Order: sequence, then C-alpha cells, then structure tokens
Amino acid sequence: MIVLVVNAGSSTLKCQLIQTDGKIRLMKALAERIGAAGACMEVAFAPDFREQTVPVEGCTVPECLSILLDMLERDPDSPIASLDDIQAVGNRIVAGGEYFSESTLIDDEAFEKLTRCEELAPLHNPPADACIRLLRERLPHTPEAAVFDTAFHTTMPPKAYLYPLPQRYYQDYGIRRYGAHGTSHRYAAQQAANLLGRPLKDVGLITCHLGNGGSITAVNHGESIDTTMGFTPLEGLMMGTRSGSIDPAIVTYIMRRDSISFEEMDRILNKESGILGVSGLSADMRDVLAAADAGNEHAALAVDMYVYRVQKAIGSFYAAMTRTDAVVMTAGIGENSAELRARVFAGLAHMGMILDLEKNDVTGQIGVNRIISIDDSPIKICVVTTDEEMRIARETSALVD
Ligand code: ADP
Repeated sequence: MIVLVVNAGSSTLKCQLIQTDGKIRLMKALAERIGAAGACMEVAFAPDFREQTVPVEGCTVPECLSILLDMLERDPDSPIASLDDIQAVGNRIVAGGEYFSESTLIDDEAFEKLTRCEELAPLHNPPADACIRLLRERLPHTPEAAVFDTAFHTTMPPKAYLYPLPQRYYQDYGIRRYGAHGTSHRYAAQQAANLLGRPLKDVGLITCHLGNGGSITAVNHGESIDTTMGFTPLEGLMMGTRSGSIDPAIVTYIMRRDSISFEEMDRILNKESGILGVSGLSADMRDVLAAADAGNEHAALAVDMYVYRVQKAIGSFYAAMTRTDAVVMTAGIGENSAELRARVFAGLAHMGMILDLEKNDVTGQIGVNRIISIDDSPIKICVVTTDEEMRIARETSALVD
C-alpha cells in the first residue's frame, strides 16, 4: 500500500511517501524552521533522492503540505502519476486526550474529537488538524488515519498520571498526564532491547527523545510507567521554545505583574521560553551550541540548563524503575549531538552510565543504532535513530486493511 505520512510539528513538516509492502520510501520532504526567515522545504523523490529546495518563507504548515501535493501531482520526477495513487494517509497526532487510546481511522466523528484535543497540544495538534482538513479536501476518497503520540503512555499507573489536585479536575476536565512522543519512545525501547540482545519484556529502559520538543520515559518491561510530558507537551524538560516544568505560581505572578491575558501567557511559555528564551538567540540547538562555543554567555547558560534538566529527569526515572538496563538517546539532538550526550553523561557516571567517548563520536556513525557506553558500564547507553514515519505508515496500512 502507498501511504503518505504527514508529521506536522510545531515548526517542522516531515512527510514521506512509503510503499509499505516492501518498506520502500518513494518521497521524503522536510520543512524546518517554518515561520522563520528563509524557511525552506527539501523534497526528494526515489530512486536517487536528489534534493530539491523549495522556498516556503511566509507559509504555514498546511501551506507547505499543499505545495508538496502540487509537486507530487506535477513534478516530472514524482514517483506517482496522480494523487489518486496515494492509497492512505497516516497523520502523526501529538495529543489524543482520553478520546483515543489507539490509532484510528478519521471519520467525521473522530475529526470532531480531534479538534477537541487541540487545547492539549496547542503547538502541534492545530497544524496537524489543519493538514487533515486540507487532505480531506484534496484527497476526498483516500482513507486517513491518526496515529497518536499519547497511545504508548496509556499503561501508566494512576500514581504517575494523576496530579495532586482536587479529583474533580480529573473527573470533570480530564486533567491528567497523557505524555507524548509515544511512537518514538516505543520504537527506541524496542531497538534498544534488540541492541542489548534481550526481549523487551525483560529489560528496564529510560528513553530520551531530545528534539525540538523533548521528553523522557521510564519503560519497564516494555510498558511506559512514567514520562516527563504531562497534560500538555509543555511539562518536563526545557525545550526549543517551551519552558518545561516551572513553579506554577510563576504563571499567575507574571500575569498579574504584566496584566497579560491567558493567551499571551500561553504564548510566552510555549513559544518564547526554553532554549530560545534563555539564549535570546535561537531555539535550534545547533545555533546555540555554536554560539556557546564562540563565547556567548547566554547560549552557554541555555546549554547548561538544558543538560542539567535532562540529567535530573534521567535520575528521577532511575529512582522510579525497579531496574535500569540502558538509557536510550533519540531524535534530533539525542541522535546527532555527540557534544550534548557527552555533557549529559559526564554527570551520570556515578549512577553507572559510563560513556565511551570514542564510540560517542558521530563521525561516520549517523543513522546507525549502537551502544556508546564502555563495555563494562553497568547501565548501557544506546543511540537509536528514530523512524517515526515508517512506523506510522505500517500502522496506517494495518488499519486500512
Ligand atoms: P522535532 O521535535 O521538531 O521533530 P527533531 O527531532 O528534528 O525535531 O530535532 C530538532 C533539534 O535537533 C533542533 O534543536 C536541532 O538543532 C537539533 N539537532 C539536529 N542535528 C543536530 C546536531 N548535529 N547537533 C546538535 N543539535 C542538532
């Protein structure tokens, strides 16, 4: 089955066209820094995957998708003759609330529920829903599926998913921890178990998805038992533009001091904080690491704070687990930044997580799942390349079948 996978992030759009029977990629597209000056989309078609760069400055996420559909329809190198060749669409959805505990086909009822979940992930769900809306117009006869980031975390026990608030907020409003990046944590855990040569059900893992958004999950015997993201993807680690966990009293204090609205406060916490807010430069870890190397103190502080919060989260999940066999690093920063990994694990050797600096070196190793701890490290450290799109394609094809 030919499946178009749509992964709409806060400032990114990743799409792939995948022939699921042979796990063959037919098209890859990536738009980054959407909304920023000079935003571009790289599009590459099989078989040679020569990249075409399409300017998308000033475009929204669904507008980028629309441009991509035009290319699939008209480009002489397109691997399909018409959009009718797309047999299904798989959408990655960050938050499914309590409505969705597994992947689903999107009919009118499901779409209505999806729009109700938007407030749970205000950066991600609205652009994803806008993409679904666009696809329903342009591919009206093609089945569409939603694959949720929250589904993997439905195994968390109440002590992990409930907040110490009056219970009526859970009962009446569904306020609880839902977590996110579930498909990535599930995949990272399985790949790490493969690297360890042990069945997933026998191992304890701490999976670290460190990208623009970031979350860490305690995976005990293959099940998520706790995760850093909460009711929304704002909780937990410091992220590109999100504050992560802060004293909740700060929110009401700032709102009173500056007389600002809820929407404004939401924007500050979700879009102006995190690495961007502290560095004052960029939300992109590559830029901030480069600035820190060049002596920028704010950038250096942002990196220090980021590393410290990752270390604290790993430590707290070590305490939550009954055993920890490996820590797994994945996503943009986790997979690609040897420097960040070196800094995180420099502080964790006393817990038995001992990095091998040579194996950690990325030269020639990008995209290779591997163990990067020293041979007798009591807890192994793994790097796993996340392949979210392939998993979404296969799940979509199974649902449509
Ligand atoms: P998203 O959460 O949007 O899917 P990604 O998983 O692609 O994002 O991660 C994007 C982040 O990864 C950005 O902060 C980017 O700077 C960072 N990143 C990518 N490559 C590197 C690298 N070589 N070194 C440091 N950071 C990197």
